[in-house]
Amino acid sequence: MKPEILQQAVMDSRDGITISDNCQPDNPLIFMNPAFERLTGYSFEEINQKNCRMLQRRDRDQPGIAIIRNAIDAGEYCLVTLRNYRKDDSMFWNELSLSPILDKYGKATHFIGIQKDVTARVLLEQQLLEKNQSYEQTRYQLERLAVMDGLTGIYNRRFFDAQLDIQWKIARRTKEPLTLLMIDIDNFKQFNDSYGHQAGDSALKRVATSLSRSFSRSSDFVARYGGEEFVILSTGMTGRRAAQFANALCQQVRDLQIPHSASSTGCLTVSIGYAVHLLSTGNDPAVLLGKADKALYAAKQRGRNQSFGG
Ligand code: GH3
Ligand code: MG
Ligand code: MG
Repeated sequence: MKPEILQQAVMDSRDGITISDNCQPDNPLIFMNPAFERLTGYSFEEINQKNCRMLQRRDRDQPGIAIIRNAIDAGEYCLVTLRNYRKDDSMFWNELSLSPILDKYGKATHFIGIQKDVTARVLLEQQLLEKNQSYEQTRYQLERLAVMDGLTGIYNRRFFDAQLDIQWKIARRTKEPLTLLMIDIDNFKQFNDSYGHQAGDSALKRVATSLSRSFSRSSDFVARYGGEEFVILSTGMTGRRAAQFANALCQQVRDLQIPHSASSTGCLTVSIGYAVHLLSTGNDPAVLLGKADKALYAAKQRGRNQSFGG
């Protein structure tokens, strides 16, 4: 097999992959893939040459930590689930698989870490044990909610802000385009007025679920930006592909066939503004937000139920 294929498997993996150098004092990280940066919110520059324990913050009283320490001392494999903290301090449950690379004398020279966000699974397990749930467990669930939107169950604005920052840095390094889509429900105030706030909430959930089913890349995601507004961040799209994608999303929402008497189509629609960032577009993610916002305004001006951008 060609080494490039192996490299792509590591770089495109949905799970975080790290390598630490056990020949240096304190076993610092010397490699991390983009998924690890997205998972933790730390860029390569911020975490390179540091020990991975910085993800634990001061939450050091966890059984998994002793297991990791013993495995490193013994040069052995281990699998643990730990509470870790992203750069923005939000907690996630990290399932960490740690494997040594041994030299010919059997000494562990490196450790390969495969890290997976298993928060949803852990919370489900905790809910099953609900009756015995301690105060501490409830607190962790609340911390998890720090990045999720309570109504729709998709990511919230806080998560989006942190991801925009980190994905911007990754895109700058990989020289891949970054696309931001802003999606706003049309005439939603009238929808609430006609059908009631509860029906509005239920429509928001359906639109969110539909939007979250539309990605090809593991790094793409949708978040609720506020009220009846959503954002999608996506890497690797050309301008043409972004236009197709935005049109397909408009169609997808129309296909939900949510009745909306005040809409000219008779059903609920969205307007989408999108912006594709290429390296020439400036040095600040706020530029991308500004462009997408202007494009959304243009889509509204042009009559709603359509996308606009470039
Ligand atoms: P436009 O086509 O220009 O976007 O018109 P609009 O009515 O959608 O926009 P506007 O900003 O005037 O109103 C947004 C409405 O969205 C007002 C608010 O009641 C509703 N909304 C915001 N958040 C929620 C929510 O969580 N639940 C419900 N049911 N409605 C919400
Ligand atoms: Mg709006
Ligand atoms: Mg609206």
